[in-house]
Amino acid sequence: MSVQSLQRRLIALGFPLPKFGPDGDFGGETQTAVGKALDELEGLRGPKVPEAAKPAPAAPVASGATIPADWMPMAKMERIICHWTAGAHKASEFDRGHYHILIEADGKLIRGIPSIKLNEAPAKNGYAAHTLNCNSGSIGVSLCCMGGSSEIPFNPGKYPMTEKQWTALTSVVAELCRRYGILVTAKTVLSHAEVQNNLGIAQRGKWDFTRLAFEPSIKGAKACGDKLRSEVKAKL
Ligand SMILES: [Zn+2]
Repeated sequence: MSVQSLQRRLIALGFPLPKFGPDGDFGGETQTAVGKALDELEGLRGPKVPEAAKPAPAAPVASGATIPADWMPMAKMERIICHWTAGAHKASEFDRGHYHILIEADGKLIRGIPSIKLNEAPAKNGYAAHTLNCNSGSIGVSLCCMGGSSEIPFNPGKYPMTEKQWTALTSVVAELCRRYGILVTAKTVLSHAEVQNNLGIAQRGKWDFTRLAFEPSIKGAKACGDKLRSEVKAKL
């Protein structure tokens, strides 16, 4: 907008301007008028809302599932750890007590019972206990699958991980990264099976994920974790 058109709009709105009308010069009177206009606008809109008090932005529509904004309260979170429940294709009440977000076989999202806020460091009473000695600052997401499975020889059991679950997982993790400002690194976006190696916290042989039932050619915690991170990055 030119200074002249700005001046014309201010005059039209009833603000005092230089006696000789719009002159194209951004002088003291125009500055005063702009200042008054801004004061009035601020008056109409109310005082500035501090950043922390603003409601969570609506979750963006991504391919696959989208997390409702009220599942993601304001909190300082450092990492996202991905699991499977070692149960059936639907979320049980027991599972809901241990994770923040669960993903059923058809890609549907189920909210866990603990709020993400409870796992903000230091973890508060009722936090989601999803990873041994590594729950503070950690968001736990879990795929409902792999009950009755075995690692060696690999047998996914009656409830194999589905590709729909995996696709929803990478969308969910991308949304969480965006919401909580988490960068995608091997220490901040990882599977439970990588915690021991990548963070140095022993996990008693957890193997979620060292195998992906829908893509058996990918083997090992690092290969599965690298696939997770590259697909999450592609969605950011
Ligand atoms: Zn796990």
